[in-house]
Amino acid sequence: MLRVEGLHKRYPVRGAGSGRHALHAVDGLDLEIEAGETVGLVGESGSGKSTAGRCILRLEEPTSGLIAVDGVRLAEAREAELRLLRRRMQMVYQDPLDSLNPRMPVGRQIAEPIWLLGVASRPEAERRVYGLLELVGLPGEVARRYPHELSGGQQQRVAIARALAPEPRLLILDEPTASLDVSVQAQIVRLLVDIQSRHGLAYLLISHDLSLVGVLAHRVAVMYCGQIVEIGNTDEVFARPAHPYTQALLSATPRDAPGEQRSRVLLRGEPQAPIDPPDTCRLYARCPCAAPACLERPAHLQTFAPGRAVRCVRFLDEHGRGVVSR
Ligand code: ADP
Ligand code: MG
Repeated sequence: MLRVEGLHKRYPVRGAGSGRHALHAVDGLDLEIEAGETVGLVGESGSGKSTAGRCILRLEEPTSGLIAVDGVRLAEAREAELRLLRRRMQMVYQDPLDSLNPRMPVGRQIAEPIWLLGVASRPEAERRVYGLLELVGLPGEVARRYPHELSGGQQQRVAIARALAPEPRLLILDEPTASLDVSVQAQIVRLLVDIQSRHGLAYLLISHDLSLVGVLAHRVAVMYCGQIVEIGNTDEVFARPAHPYTQALLSATPRDAPGEQRSRVLLRGEPQAPIDPPDTCRLYARCPCAAPACLERPAHLQTFAPGRAVRCVRFLDEHGRGVVSR
């Protein structure tokens, strides 16, 4: 239902010396999401996850790239079509208060996108509020409350109800549980699973929390310095990560099964913002597996097994570049 091809977002920055410099926040992102599928987008802070999400929703204008919803390209959509496509994708933020108005009862805030986006008349929208509150596990009386009268978990439920109001097919969830207490996180995760199974929604789950992605995502894309460095089925990527960056992220995450062992992969130093980045491996300076070959060729994302691709020259040399085999 969503196709993203060659998405770039660059910000002009002042660098050392003269001339123009650009921070390549998202640098050639390709991604497809099926109806009803959850794709996790993981990576350290600053890897470009939120920028990618905002560009997909056109909350921010991409520098270049193609975004298509159900086969219709956003850039070519006419006014009415564009409104329909906008309805189909909604965002849920880390902090529910980012999308809620402090001065408006929450019922009106849930009704608003329904009639504003032309999904239904205003009286009909106001009736639908109660069904949406029920869907997110809140009693109808919450409709009269203001956001500050609710707990953090209730606020996030309201934000989810508001995102669901215009009947989207894709939710972009940007760190949806990161601002909540652990016990409340689990409730929101259950709610998201439940809503997906009932309504067949697709999710793009942006998170630095690999255990959350492990629970929710069918596939996972790992981002580093604006690029996907590995993508595949979550189970396979978690069991046999191909990229040293994925290995490092996973080895920093506690395992559920106590007996399971995973070798520790540690990266040197901190991530650098991708300003005028090279086309060779961006992890090179931090990578424990770095070899001379890594600087000899551009690092492209390449398929090495069905549904799995990696951007690591060394791994691809060892496992057969471009060869689709098991
Ligand atoms: P993440 O969500 O993975 O933490 P972001 O998408 O927020 O990453 O940021 C990616 C990179 O883009 C970071 O280096 C960040 O500083 C930079 N960036 C994000 N927004 C802007 C902006 N409006 N202007 C300049 N740089 C930005
Ligand atoms: Mg972010």
